Amino acid sequence: MGTGFFGKILWVNLTEGTFKEESLPEMMYRQYLGGYGLAVKIIYDNMPAKIDPLSSESIFGFFPGLLTGTAAPFSGRYMVAGKSPLTGTWGDSNSGGTFGPEIKKCGYDAILIIGSASKPKYISIIGEDKEILDATDIWGLDIIEAEEKLKRKHGKFIKTAGIGQAGEKISLISGIANDKGRIAARSGFGAIMGSKKLKMLVLSGKNKLSFNNRKRFLDSVKIYNEGSIKGEPGKFIKSILKNVPNLAKTIRRFKIKFAGPPNMIRQIYRTFGTSVGNTLSSETNDSPIKNWSGIGMYDFPFKKSKSLSATKIKKFKIREFGCFGCPVQCGGILSVPELNLEETHQPEYETCCAFGALLLNNDLLSIFEINDLCNRAAIDTISTGATIAFAIECFENGILTKENTEGLELTWGNSKAIIELVKKIIDRDGIGDILADGSKIAAERIGKDSFKYSMTSLGSEIAMHNPRVFPSLAFTYNYDPTPGRHTAASIDFMDIGPINKFQKGFKLPKGWNKNEIKKQKAQKLVTAFHQVLSSSGLCSFSTLFGSYPFLDLINSLTGWGINIDEIIKIGLRIQTLRQAFTLREGIDIAKNNLPGRVIGDPPDIKGPTKGITVEYEDFYKGYCYEMGWNPDNGYPLKDTLKELDLEFVIKDLY
Ligand code: SF4
Repeated sequence: MGTGFFGKILWVNLTEGTFKEESLPEMMYRQYLGGYGLAVKIIYDNMPAKIDPLSSESIFGFFPGLLTGTAAPFSGRYMVAGKSPLTGTWGDSNSGGTFGPEIKKCGYDAILIIGSASKPKYISIIGEDKEILDATDIWGLDIIEAEEKLKRKHGKFIKTAGIGQAGEKISLISGIANDKGRIAARSGFGAIMGSKKLKMLVLSGKNKLSFNNRKRFLDSVKIYNEGSIKGEPGKFIKSILKNVPNLAKTIRRFKIKFAGPPNMIRQIYRTFGTSVGNTLSSETNDSPIKNWSGIGMYDFPFKKSKSLSATKIKKFKIREFGCFGCPVQCGGILSVPELNLEETHQPEYETCCAFGALLLNNDLLSIFEINDLCNRAAIDTISTGATIAFAIECFENGILTKENTEGLELTWGNSKAIIELVKKIIDRDGIGDILADGSKIAAERIGKDSFKYSMTSLGSEIAMHNPRVFPSLAFTYNYDPTPGRHTAASIDFMDIGPINKFQKGFKLPKGWNKNEIKKQKAQKLVTAFHQVLSSSGLCSFSTLFGSYPFLDLINSLTGWGINIDEIIKIGLRIQTLRQAFTLREGIDIAKNNLPGRVIGDPPDIKGPTKGITVEYEDFYKGYCYEMGWNPDNGYPLKDTLKELDLEFVIKDLY
């Protein structure tokens, strides 16, 4: 066996109540790394097409990345993967914190779940002991209460990941949470755990990874981390950066691009986290406003959005929070005495936007409360906020009335009603039951013209960034095998950081942003690179902070001697297999369409995105051509499949 991985995965069969270890050959890791890569290969091989993801036959799993569990900066993530019950496509989602490394400490490169329990269970892997235990007394508790109870039983050292009330009630927009509110939120995996009656994973291990060259690995980490500190801006620049959230109007007026040198971005992230975008994105129309129908500077102008600014949020911060091994620490723990919240996670930009600009709500305390509710119940804030936006528009247009909402006045910015509706969705109470599976399914249940207000892609609520500002987001929202996501390698979005400088040898075609064909070629490279980063367990933000010793870390861990061409090929293999999974499910992704509002059809008549309609169909065709996929239907060509060692897919697609 090689170094850098354990060479084995654990299968847990909940129906039989059994554990089984499986050894994997080294070549599997070299071809798929870990994380999303290993996930798609194992699940594609083991789960036949068209399985109901909420059935006992469905398989899903927890996959740390190849670098997870080492000291590599930003490498603390784990992925959850399987077939999404929300979209019917390939599904994956990831979370940071400290749970990912614990999977490795238990001595496994992945933990896969199959079967269903007849009553609530949790899986405990502590040292060498593996058990499937009764979870009756934690079923119904939120993830923090459940973890606290399990810590009293097993010890404070355990790490947990599991579902809250939303997943227990099989909400298709529920996720899996760890570290008291970091959530693998998208794709609806909370519903899969709930359907299998699996409440939590409880882990504690002491295994250590072997390194091909530990000294070289640690030297690379040290040089990177020291460089991060040396790259800190001086006092004067820091004092300007502290004021960034308040420069929203200036940034809009002078059309300043969301990009900058690594040390500046690092400083901003460390100080504010992603909530720095709250005011900037509203003002520049990057945030979807009023369920994608508004214009930030008019409908949610700075005088309103500033109530949600990162500087205001920072006043509640009592300490930093960061994922395992992260030199940036972009998260925060807040104390909000007004809500009796002694400690709660700082809300991310996506949450602030989904319950702020999207709903014209500038009540900051309501967003803290909602964030805490959603974290505890482990429900996706993007989908929940977007589903509430849908409900408000239904209410505004008389499709829903107070009779349907049990008296709730669903109007824009009505924070009290919004909080009550979040609770109803979590509890599947009344109107909440209709909305608990996202807005597309809610529209099917409500009927009339309500579908017009569902801003979804194949059932997944579209994330909180506007393709009129980052055009290739339309392409990933519509065509990625996991649709509706902002974390799917849109090249314009990835360009916020100097992606070209991340890994020596990784270069985008010169002038890619001025020439459509070069941009399609660049999109192919960025897509591949994004897949290998995720499969290595790296946080997407890692590309924002400049040069990173990526290949050096992989090679000193494994001894493989991988070069840039091989790493790109690995990324293409992973993305092509994700695509094949979705196609094998019978989903005609090439025929998918985004709601007109999302792409500016019709275009805004004023404001920062005036006159812009985003084209994405031709871009996809060009991208397919570059990927070696059929531009008409997105099917990978047979030669491409052979070239990428994916011959086994041919029988499924042809
Ligand atoms: S940058 Fe933020 S999200 Fe990414 S690893 Fe660090 S703390 Fe976690």
